[in-house]
Amino acid sequence: MTAPVPPLRIDIDSAALVANWRWFAEASGRAVCGAAVKADGYGLGARGVVDRLADAGCRDFFVATWAEAEALGPLADALSLSVLHGLRAEDAEAALASRARPVLNSAAMVARWKALGAGRACDVMIDTGMNRLGLTPEEARSGLLDGLEIDTLMSHLACADEPGHPLNEQQLFTFRGLKAAIPARRYSLANSAGICLGQRYAFGLTRPGLGLYGGIPGPGAEGHVRRVARPHAQILQVRIVPRDATVGYGATFAAPAAMRVAILNVGYADGYLRGFGEGRGRALAGGVPCPVLGRVSMDLLAVDIGAAQDVEEGDWLELDYDPATASIASGLSQYELLTSLGRRYQRCWL
Ligand SMILES: *Cc1c(COP(=O)(O)O)cnc(C)c1O
Repeated sequence: MTAPVPPLRIDIDSAALVANWRWFAEASGRAVCGAAVKADGYGLGARGVVDRLADAGCRDFFVATWAEAEALGPLADALSLSVLHGLRAEDAEAALASRARPVLNSAAMVARWKALGAGRACDVMIDTGMNRLGLTPEEARSGLLDGLEIDTLMSHLACADEPGHPLNEQQLFTFRGLKAAIPARRYSLANSAGICLGQRYAFGLTRPGLGLYGGIPGPGAEGHVRRVARPHAQILQVRIVPRDATVGYGATFAAPAAMRVAILNVGYADGYLRGFGEGRGRALAGGVPCPVLGRVSMDLLAVDIGAAQDVEEGDWLELDYDPATASIASGLSQYELLTSLGRRYQRCWL
């Protein structure tokens, strides 16, 4: 028996993914362009992303945890993998068994890596003003890093999506000072939005994530970044809702006239959250908008198919899930939209 076909799928456009990476690589100037593939490739499937981007020439990949590194499976020798969350006490065994480099974020992590005596290169994160992960600049300059073989010295921008924010220039200035003081094979500051700030931010290696997957990281990327993920859901039932009858939990929608309604197999357990309810979310039937009616249920969704022709039980509708516009409609961030797409979707690489 073949496996049951799920009533949900995400079409993932390989050519768009690669084109987006090439655009960020171009915008990175002389810097090498890597790819953040944490959170299972922002929900799309990290292995599929790595394979396609490696074919296109990408060599540097970033995951969050050792479990994510292991889940990727074996990587070609030419590829480099960094584990952004570094080296907890629990990670020692996995780190020794892996070719991936830990990104050391704290003095304790530096001490742990030295004690492991792995005898190979690591990466180091320095916090230049975000107050998230990383050594302070003072710690980094204190001699703590002496004796380490640092491949990539990195920092992360807090406000890169706001080009006018003064913290960008401050972080750039601080990072330049660190570059002059701390030897490393290469230096890296920019995520997707950071690349859009200009090549001064690129240093030797850039680390885009969101933009590769079709998100618009900041001004300058519109019109260049292509859609990558298109979620689709199957219609389980088509019904005629009579005038004045209500739809869904809470009976929040009442039909102003008799209407044709499709019930789709998707809900908030699939990341299609309450923020897409009445007046905000919509499906598309061959490009014709089909607005959401009433509340989103856990696994089901009602949409108005009155404007669409020939839509029937068993058909598939695309969810209108363009990260930038769906983010405004739903109040969710583009990151939330991509990473909350659940396990129930079949991921179909086109
Ligand atoms: C997630 C992450 C990135 C990628 O950021 P995007 O905003 O998705 O481009 C780059 N660097 C670090 C350290 C990250 O945590």
